[in-house]
Amino acid sequence: MKSKYVKKHECVIIGGGAAGMMAAVQLAGYGIDNCIIEHTGKIGSKILQTGNGKCNFTNLNMSSEMYQNKDNRLVMEVIDEFDVQHTLKFFKSIGVYYTQKDGYVYPHSKTAAALRYELILLKRKRKQFSMSDFFIFF
Ligand SMILES: Cc1cc2nc3c(=O)[nH]c(=O)nc-3n(C[C@H](O)[C@H](O)[C@H](O)COP(=O)(O)OP(=O)(O)OC[C@H]3O[C@@H](n4cnc5c(N)ncnc54)[C@H](O)[C@@H]3O)c2cc1C
Repeated sequence: MKSKYVKKHECVIIGGGAAGMMAAVQLAGYGIDNCIIEHTGKIGSKILQTGNGKCNFTNLNMSSEMYQNKDNRLVMEVIDEFDVQHTLKFFKSIGVYYTQKDGYVYPHSKTAAALRYELILLKRKRKQFSMSDFFIFF
């Protein structure tokens, strides 16, 4: 017998961290129905710890020397796909304005919770989503 709780999605994202949440809202922006499977009780919980709770979400001084990688060219190729300006523009578009110190960029409110909240809100706003799209697995 088919359970009434079974819901099909075009895409399933394992892990509701910063990367999973960004993937979810970007996919939704393209109209791709998706859900996040998160095995802790909270989506985006690590975001709350970043930058001592202030959330240093990007850096104005982005260069390959900042990364430990054998292939520095690849690092910048990946980053340039969604660079600092894209990041700032994206967060501004969802109402997260920024402040910076020595190139370290924080939400203007200097609270990681604000950024996490805006991402969750955006996920809800984009039509395909509701909180039921967050599955908690133990
Ligand atoms: C104390 C601290 C401070 C930090 N400060 C900063 C900072 O200031 N700026 C910065 O850019 N970065 C900072 N970081 C790093 C930042 O947390 C990571 O860059 C970011 O969280 C990575 O996001 P992610 O989505 O890749 O991984 P995560 O945030 O780790 O998310 C992965 C998610 O997947 C879930 N998961 C894992 N396996 C499964 C599974 N099998 N099934 C279901 N769910 C699963 C996890 O529970 C988690 O929620 C900090 C990290 C720590 C610990």
